[in-house]
Amino acid sequence: MENAGNPIITEVELKNVHKTFMNHNEAIHVLKGISGKVPKGSILTIIGPSGSGKSTILSLCNLLITPDEGEVHIQGKEVRKWEVQELRRQVGIAFQNAPMLTGTALENLTLPARLQGRTLDNPEKYMEYVGLSKDLLTREAKELSGGQRQRLSLARTLVNNPSVLLLDEVTSALDSISGHEIEELILRLNREQQTTILWVTHDLAQAERVGDQTWLIMDGRLIEAAPTKQFFAEPKEAKTKQFLDMKRENK
Ligand code: ADP
Repeated sequence: MENAGNPIITEVELKNVHKTFMNHNEAIHVLKGISGKVPKGSILTIIGPSGSGKSTILSLCNLLITPDEGEVHIQGKEVRKWEVQELRRQVGIAFQNAPMLTGTALENLTLPARLQGRTLDNPEKYMEYVGLSKDLLTREAKELSGGQRQRLSLARTLVNNPSVLLLDEVTSALDSISGHEIEELILRLNREQQTTILWVTHDLAQAERVGDQTWLIMDGRLIEAAPTKQFFAEPKEAKTKQFLDMKRENK
């Protein structure tokens, strides 16, 4: 963790968070009292079975949804007290399929600035940072390869210089070489900008490689939260051991 020697500042905190969705008149209690802290500048990896509530946790951190009960604090301030555009500048999000709008890479890259009524002075700088040629700026974003789109998606988030980055399976649609390159890019961002990262991944090896802390979410509950090395080497909870064994057997 980059904070070694410095006092630990909490960047993201969940306090007894509950979330229920209505699905065809049926209430699904998706998060059942999640509490935890993420220190500034650290990487939290979030693992767990599909449908256990991992993406829902991310969505709560930048007001894509709100909790029914409990609180989510970013930099000590509850999300509902933030002005939503300001919160989303501070808390960026990137998804598995790196969704792009119709238009060129440049139009996609400059979108966050345009939404704020400003112009982006040097789009080339962001392209260079994420390892994309500036020649791609004039290309249709939807025609870029999966790896290029994910780089562009991260560049678009970086325009706001976010303090927190929420990553939802950002490498799982990519081949292993592109996936590793994106992983390296995110780690560099964390190192150079001290960006706090909440990283949902189904790839256990990745969760172990990149995390400072790891959470296991099952059926809307936080089963185990521990420093990543300890989480994988000496899990404390029987459910964690079972989950890790099951995933390792299925490899
Ligand atoms: P995970 O990321 O662990 O795969 P999600 O957080 O995406 O899990 O979803 C948890 C559960 O909540 C799933 O059953 C999903 O169908 C449901 N869910 C998620 N978002 C919504 C929504 N907007 N409306 C209704 N149900 C939802």
